[in-house]
Amino acid sequence: MNHPISVAIDGPSAAGKSTLARMLAARLGFLYVDTGAIYRTVGLFVYRQQVNPRDEAAVSSLLDTLQIHLRYEDDGLQHMYLGEEDVSNAIREHLMSQYASDVSTLPSVRQFLLSMQRSLAASGNVVMDGRDIGTVVLPHADVKIFLTASAEERARRRFLELQERGEITPYETVLQDIRQRDLQDQTRATAPLKQAEDAVLIDSTHHSIEECLCIIGSLVKSVQMKPISRSHTQNGDNG
Ligand code: C5P
Repeated sequence: MNHPISVAIDGPSAAGKSTLARMLAARLGFLYVDTGAIYRTVGLFVYRQQVNPRDEAAVSSLLDTLQIHLRYEDDGLQHMYLGEEDVSNAIREHLMSQYASDVSTLPSVRQFLLSMQRSLAASGNVVMDGRDIGTVVLPHADVKIFLTASAEERARRRFLELQERGEITPYETVLQDIRQRDLQDQTRATAPLKQAEDAVLIDSTHHSIEECLCIIGSLVKSVQMKPISRSHTQNGDNG
């Protein structure tokens, strides 16, 4: 192999992508890129500007002033910055999930973030998670995973995560929000959430994280052992 290896992990909200991708990247020594955090940061920016996150014209006119950065700090984690402000915690608030989902339906926002995501993947070996990584951002990713779980199980996990953060949101509300975001992510016109044809489907409802890591780890190993290097660009025609 003489090109950076990329592992694309896509799937619906709260399927366990971030946890899995972070652990996988740490074990492999790859960079972990959480693209949901990038969309959440755009969502937070739009929220603070008091603009309707579904208004394409209004949001796209703001993009010129958006200063979004990603930094890897001493804790090894991806931190998101708006200008000089570390917004990594603020973007995790419940409301930002909906803002992120709303701005992510806008073609101008997706286009704006495309080159940022691709250049991160070009900089070295990466594990990148999101909704359209295997289909649009990195159509030539070496390993593609579509990670899913039942809506109830995902709502249970997100409910516990919010509770740990001290945000008390009823389980029923979390479940309803997850269903609503699934629908919005799957039915949007630009880069909808869907399994890439060459992605491996993993249902984490009945698999432990360790089992999922094992499956993906062996797929990556088989790529690393390939003797002949391919020459390709990560960019597809559909981005
Ligand atoms: O992964 P997370 O739940 O943090 O993502 C927040 C929202 O950002 C998702 O609901 C989805 O609408 C959007 N997103 C996206 N494409 C990505 C990553 C996230 O549309 N690659």
